[in-house]
Amino acid sequence: MQAFFKPDSAAHVEVEGRRLINFCGNDYLGLARDPRLAVAFAAASAELGVGAGASHLISGHGREHERLEAALAAFTGCEQALLFSTGYMANLAVVTALAGRGALLLLDRLSHASLIDAALLSRARLCRYPHGDAAGLKRLLERRAAPARPVSIATDGVFSMDGDLAPLPQLVALAQARGASLIVDDAHGLGVVGPGGHGTLAHFGLGGDAVTALVGTFGKAFGTFGAFVAGSAALIEHLIQSARTYIYTTALPQPLAAATRAALEIAQRESWRRERVLALTARFRAAAGAAGIALTASPTPIQPILLGSSEAALAASRALEAAGLWVAAIRPPTVPAHAARLRVTLSAAHTEAEVDRLVATLARILPVPP
Ligand SMILES: *Cc1c(COP(=O)(O)O)cnc(C)c1O
Repeated sequence: MQAFFKPDSAAHVEVEGRRLINFCGNDYLGLARDPRLAVAFAAASAELGVGAGASHLISGHGREHERLEAALAAFTGCEQALLFSTGYMANLAVVTALAGRGALLLLDRLSHASLIDAALLSRARLCRYPHGDAAGLKRLLERRAAPARPVSIATDGVFSMDGDLAPLPQLVALAQARGASLIVDDAHGLGVVGPGGHGTLAHFGLGGDAVTALVGTFGKAFGTFGAFVAGSAALIEHLIQSARTYIYTTALPQPLAAATRAALEIAQRESWRRERVLALTARFRAAAGAAGIALTASPTPIQPILLGSSEAALAASRALEAAGLWVAAIRPPTVPAHAARLRVTLSAAHTEAEVDRLVATLARILPVPP
């Protein structure tokens, strides 16, 4: 059975009648419940209706889609952007478009499940390289990429369960040297990482044109729902003509596009949100480190605490819940075997006192390392 969650503020959630501080959402900038997004949504609904009424190519594509796509192209530094209803569908589209039957597709071992499913659907030959290991990828390229074979490389920008960054400068160099396409899914980087929150590419000083396709989602830092692919005009045209998850599905509701454009504007104008979630991340790491809690090297608001067994992760999650804190246990197959964890996430909506309370509670309830 699925638990019932009722968000009652940007940082709190009601779980089966109890109000808990939510430390496992993806609302990094605290925008999901921002009233300005609701106003933008309501205004667009009143004018254009809630539902798109058809797929983009038939009669569902409208003004708000166009405006958001233009704003996303500008934000990512890519020539064009194309909206999708979900990040899952965007990944299916872009991977199947760039890696067909007969191609070799190289995927980071810890890539998001939607990239893995996309790889299976593409019918490309799939090889997974060790997590974050550009040298391992290079060896695979040397061994497996016969000269005539088309090659694609795909990775998360920020890894969703670990919070670390892909070594994008090395991946870009390898892709360029081999003439391979490179797909970066920056669902957790955009809005949070890099100068101005422009994402993991910007963090490394790379422009949008360094990759073949950049995937972003709206359900994380932008607090709404939906996704996009950004890239060259030729890539976007190819997706419009061929991507089945674009063609054979109802267009994203225009009010969602309007609310997302409002979120994108607020995220850029109110840079304190990004600064705040990063400051709270630093506070969490410093306090947890001082309390002897083992952290990973993640520089993002995703701060996993590895516990090994599913039982240990569940027990820790329950103990936090009893103390008024909600941190879901993440277990295999979402993460590799023996890598069950608490996936702590921070938000600009948290207070310093809430972060301190989380650390103090973790210090009390976590098993003492041998
Ligand atoms: C959340 C997520 C997705 C899926 O996006 P949805 O819009 O929720 O379908 C894809 N990739 C990554 C890395 C994600 O974290």
